[in-house]
Amino acid sequence: MRAARMHAYNEPLVLEDVPIPEIEPNEVLVKVGAAGMCRTDVQLIDGYFRPYVESIFPMTLGHEIAGEVHKIGSLVPKSAGLEEGDQVVVVGGWGDETCRHCHEGNTQICPHGKWPGFGPYGGYAEYVPVPAQYLIKVDKRYKLKAEELAPLTDAGLTPYRGIKKLRDAGALGPDRVLAVFGVGGLGTYAIQYAKLLGGGATVVAFGRNAEKLAAAEDLGADYVIDIKGKSLDDIRKELTRATGKGEIDAVIDCAGAKEMIQLGFGLLSVGAHYSSVGLVGDRIDIPLFPFVAREYTYHGSFWGNYNDLAEVVKLVQEGKVKHTVKAIRLDDVNETLDLLRSGGIVGRAVVKY
Ligand SMILES: [Zn+2]
Repeated sequence: MRAARMHAYNEPLVLEDVPIPEIEPNEVLVKVGAAGMCRTDVQLIDGYFRPYVESIFPMTLGHEIAGEVHKIGSLVPKSAGLEEGDQVVVVGGWGDETCRHCHEGNTQICPHGKWPGFGPYGGYAEYVPVPAQYLIKVDKRYKLKAEELAPLTDAGLTPYRGIKKLRDAGALGPDRVLAVFGVGGLGTYAIQYAKLLGGGATVVAFGRNAEKLAAAEDLGADYVIDIKGKSLDDIRKELTRATGKGEIDAVIDCAGAKEMIQLGFGLLSVGAHYSSVGLVGDRIDIPLFPFVAREYTYHGSFWGNYNDLAEVVKLVQEGKVKHTVKAIRLDDVNETLDLLRSGGIVGRAVVKY
């Protein structure tokens, strides 16, 4: 099969022919229909995760995977309901299934977990072995395309979980302002979930790219604010003009740049909640006294679990989520990674097979 594999840090992926993977009895071989391209892939190549995780090369990237069931392992239970040819999406965080987090269903934060696209197998190859319990079947009647489904497994999942945390903490409602920071791959979904789960909250998208902000408005943001080159005071004034108040009650941060987090905390109302899902920067530097005295809550939110993704797939099947997808060929993967690095992709780039 064709694969694009990482052999070293800071080098382009190598396009090569490799054997089709064997499966374990509890696994399913998925024929990849499409694989979403994530900024995390760029960060992986650039060494962002190097201090935290040991990488073994060659590594097949691509952790946003949709495809078809190609072959089913002998011990996959019938109750899984999987048949060859079924359309599926892959849940990204595979747990050891022994720890408390796994038992709570949060396999994506299992301390002994692993992820497709961060090891030998991933979506930048034509086939990938997946433990059967990490597949979600998609109803074929809805005729969804693989390139629409693949990004749901991270870009369309991660902000969903992040916004659920805000909702479950009581941070959303009709009298609240919910800000979406960053209007890239994750942000385009975050805006839609902000409207779907916000309980009537006013949704304001903050970004630095006019084209992406226009897309955010099309996706349902009540207001968009271009923060490029503006001071905190300017932005507060613009926010006041838009919403009637110069404060934000909740943030879903799909970017995570240090300055943007500082801006966000500078705009928070008393008792506000901030949910971080984006990883553009690698440090948080915010003043402590207001954090304590104004009772802010900071949520880290990582990827999503099986049930989160099943809910996202349901919303998509019901036609409640729009896709902003650009399909590319596997052969163009390195050029597209460069575009991602420079912020030149609107929506999600997806490798289509
Ligand atoms: Zn576990």
